[in-house]
Amino acid sequence: MNTNLEQYPIELPFPDLSAWKQGNCGVDYVYQFKSGHPGKHAMIMSLIHGNEISGALVVDKLLRDKFKPERGTLTLGFANVAAYEAFSPDAPDATRFLDEDMNRVWSEEALDGSRDSLELRRARALRPVVDQVDLLLDLHSMHESDPAIMMGGYLKKGEDLARQVGVPEYIVMDKGHKAGKRLRDYGDFGNPQSRKAAILFESGQHFEKQAYPAALDVAARFLMVAGIADRKTVEHYLLPTAPQQQKLVDITEAVTIKTDNFRFSDNFKGMQLIGKAGTIIAYDGDEEIKTPYDNCILVQPSMRHARKGNTAVRLGKLVE
Ligand SMILES: [Zn+2]
Repeated sequence: MNTNLEQYPIELPFPDLSAWKQGNCGVDYVYQFKSGHPGKHAMIMSLIHGNEISGALVVDKLLRDKFKPERGTLTLGFANVAAYEAFSPDAPDATRFLDEDMNRVWSEEALDGSRDSLELRRARALRPVVDQVDLLLDLHSMHESDPAIMMGGYLKKGEDLARQVGVPEYIVMDKGHKAGKRLRDYGDFGNPQSRKAAILFESGQHFEKQAYPAALDVAARFLMVAGIADRKTVEHYLLPTAPQQQKLVDITEAVTIKTDNFRFSDNFKGMQLIGKAGTIIAYDGDEEIKTPYDNCILVQPSMRHARKGNTAVRLGKLVE
């Protein structure tokens, strides 16, 4: 049964973002740098979820280093700063957002509609910036201390971009969430006819030390792939480890919790492979939840947040 119910220690510093409030392109907490040379427009977004510090540390670092593109345009953003500033170590997961999940509001219907929330207002302010971007890296982190993953969406171009970046080991392909559209899937990022592409990086547990260097490494590789920077310019941001052979995982289904009595059958880790089809991985009330096929991968099992109506785990197939 679950043994890791205690909170994770907070090993990362929370940077003071107040100096970045004004931005330089008319939107708070957004900076845009034009190289003056032809090239792509790349964006690194952080803090779509308010307690996901590693991304904020990356954007803060690039700004403090006065990093500038060699080709094309680079945009750097902090998304949900209001939630970030409301963080309290007593409730570290409470400030993922304030009114609603900012990674479920990126459909045209929601953005153009009349519904109001703090996150929708911020998404509407960011939208004209995001609309200009060719390639987007959206930096996130996870509830659990699981291996880092790159979310490539559901189109080949997302997979291609994730493979070009070359890390981490796991690329996870999925169609997003029923509850609403992610930034990664917004507009032309989700249009197979368009060459615009986006990837979402989950760098590890929100507060663990290694989540920051992992995110900085991915950001540097993304800047090289986008043609924004040469290797020598970003070399000092890279991890010393050579990229591994990447594995592609296709999400086939999500296990949604139906009762107040859901429990996993073991203390599972993210990306754990269950060899045999029919293995019981959880109980939901009286129902046994079994793996539907051989070599089933458990993607982000929610060991500490298993509540009715939530997704307990997503199941993925290793693509050979
Ligand atoms: Zn997130």
